[in-house]
Amino acid sequence: MAEQRSFLPRSEFPRLLSELATVGYRCIGPRVRDGAIVYEPIKGVEDFPRGIHDRQAPGEYRLEQTAEPRFFAWANGPQALRPLTFAGRDKLWTAERGTDGSVEFTGEPPQAEPLAVIGVRACDLAALYVHDQHFMQTGHPDPWYTARRQNLFLVAVNCTHPSLNCFCASTGDGPRATYGYDLALSELDEGFLIEARSAKGERVLAGLPVREASAQQTETADRDIESAAQRQVKSVPSRNLRDVLFARLDHPRWNEVAQRCLSCTNCTLVCPTCFCHDETEVPSLDGRRSEHYREWGSCFTQSHSYIHGITIRADTRTRYRQWLTHKVGSWHDQFGRSGCVGCGRCITWCPVGIDITEELAAICR
Ligand code: SF4
Ligand code: SF4
Repeated sequence: MAEQRSFLPRSEFPRLLSELATVGYRCIGPRVRDGAIVYEPIKGVEDFPRGIHDRQAPGEYRLEQTAEPRFFAWANGPQALRPLTFAGRDKLWTAERGTDGSVEFTGEPPQAEPLAVIGVRACDLAALYVHDQHFMQTGHPDPWYTARRQNLFLVAVNCTHPSLNCFCASTGDGPRATYGYDLALSELDEGFLIEARSAKGERVLAGLPVREASAQQTETADRDIESAAQRQVKSVPSRNLRDVLFARLDHPRWNEVAQRCLSCTNCTLVCPTCFCHDETEVPSLDGRRSEHYREWGSCFTQSHSYIHGITIRADTRTRYRQWLTHKVGSWHDQFGRSGCVGCGRCITWCPVGIDITEELAAICR
């Protein structure tokens, strides 16, 4: 695939949306809703968060309007791609009792329309890569995830505005998108550098009024990404903390963090790599019919470790320890890498500002 970058003037950016619509995609992109940037269907470039910056700190998220022309001058919102592939709630099957007492199960086929997601960050692509392994690259691929994932067209945007909570440079997952996308954009004031990495991306790129990027534009874009990496103030002590974490299961820090943690589940619900779920049965009142659902779950709930009348992790200390030792430790056994891609969301959306990088530093010091 061609990796040479082309230049798309800002005035022609709407052509990207119309080209994606022409080849059959519904466009999903960033927009402001309820004081946060969320990925939702967009009708045109007027929906993009033009000139918006996000200010993030532990337990804090604020948007600020500036006079800048840029659409992607922010780090991230509360959700990445996870709701688009691993939905918050899916009906898996319906069971129905016949008049002769037999029970018939009917599967619910996954619904998936072709979606083009614009504005995907490098850390979100890294999270998607792990979810692909978990949901698709097993002996029993998940049909709901697979149907949605195969219908995605991903337009990445290289990050130039990391938040105070970002640390993707230290996990090796950003701020530049290097894999897993169809098209990648680097935003300049006057427009976008654009490159394709898939045959689908090449086809869309061929329909756009691009010209060759100048050396100065390429240099500016690369400098902005490099600067974004250098401006990150948080980091993980190492990319592989598996052994050190499992050697310190009795570290006093687990007790200390448990004094602050509310077991609210926020960190797991915003984390782009979490995949725990609950399964629930919703029977009809007459007992003839029941619907079976899969819903996002969290290892921070009491019910998550309830097995045969016993709650295995009855206190917050063991739940927080489970989350961190799985996410950053035993994921290496499952997926060959840490489950943390450095997006910083769990720090931002923790109501008491617990910072995963500080906890790791304290335990692994
Ligand atoms: S653990 Fe926190 S920083 Fe790491 S990927 Fe999940 S939400 Fe992002
Ligand atoms: S978001 Fe914070 S308070 Fe809530 S469960 Fe996670 S670490 Fe605990």
